[in-house]
Amino acid sequence: MKPYVLVVEDEAPIQDLLAYNLESNGFEVGQAYDGEDALLSITERVPDLVILDWMLPHLSGIEVCRRLRRKPATQRLPIIMLTARAEEPDRLRGLETGADDFIVKPFSMAEVIARARAVLRRARPALDEPELRVGDLLMDLDAHRVLRGNRPLALSPTEFRLLRHLMEHPRRVFGRAQLLDAVWGINQEVELRTVDATIRRLRKALNGPGEPDLLRTVRAEGYALEPHDADKTRPEAASSA
Ligand code: CA
Repeated sequence: MKPYVLVVEDEAPIQDLLAYNLESNGFEVGQAYDGEDALLSITERVPDLVILDWMLPHLSGIEVCRRLRRKPATQRLPIIMLTARAEEPDRLRGLETGADDFIVKPFSMAEVIARARAVLRRARPALDEPELRVGDLLMDLDAHRVLRGNRPLALSPTEFRLLRHLMEHPRRVFGRAQLLDAVWGINQEVELRTVDATIRRLRKALNGPGEPDLLRTVRAEGYALEPHDADKTRPEAASSA
C-alpha cells in the first residue's frame, strides 16, 4: 500500500515538482494550496505524512502544524516543514510547534524523498514492510491475507482494515470514535455501534476454538489487540479476555 502524502504549498511550480517526484517514488500524493485547504483535506482523509510549507497565505504553516497537534486524530501525524528561512531561531520555533523534520529551500528532490521515507519509517515502521506480524498473527498486506498460526482467516475488507490498524499499534487502546475515524474515515456517516459489530465479527474470525481472545475490550474506553505468542504461554494473555 502506498503511503499517502499531503503536500501543502502555495507556489504552484514547487507544488507540482514535489507532487511529481513523490508520485514517481511510490507515494500517493494529495495537494493543498493553503492552510485552510490543508486542514479540510486532512479532516476528510488523514495522510501518512504532511509536507508543509512555512510561508502560506492566510494561515501559516506553523499555525497549521499547531492546530494539527492539538487534535487527537492528528497529534502524532508526521509533518515535514519546508522553509526558506534558514535562521536558527526560526528553525527552533518551528520545532516547538511539533514538526518532525525540516527542509530548507532550495532543496533537492532526493533530499525530500529521503527525509520523507525516514520520517515515515520512524512513525510507522509497518509502511516499509509488506507484512505485519503481531504474536501469532501474520498479515500479508500485498496479498490481503491473514493467518493466525497456520490458519487462514476470512475477513471482509472492513474487518481487514480494522485489524490492520490494531496490528500497527498492538496493545494500544482505541476508543470507538478513533477506530471509526481510522478505519471508516472521518467523513463517513457510520454509527459507533457499527464499530462494536465489526469488532464482534473480527473477534469471531480471529479466535478459533480454544484459542486465547486477541481482542481486549476495555470498559468505557474501547478496544486493543493483545498479542498472543503461541510458542510462549503467558498466563496474563489467558486472563485478558
Ligand atoms: Ca509558500
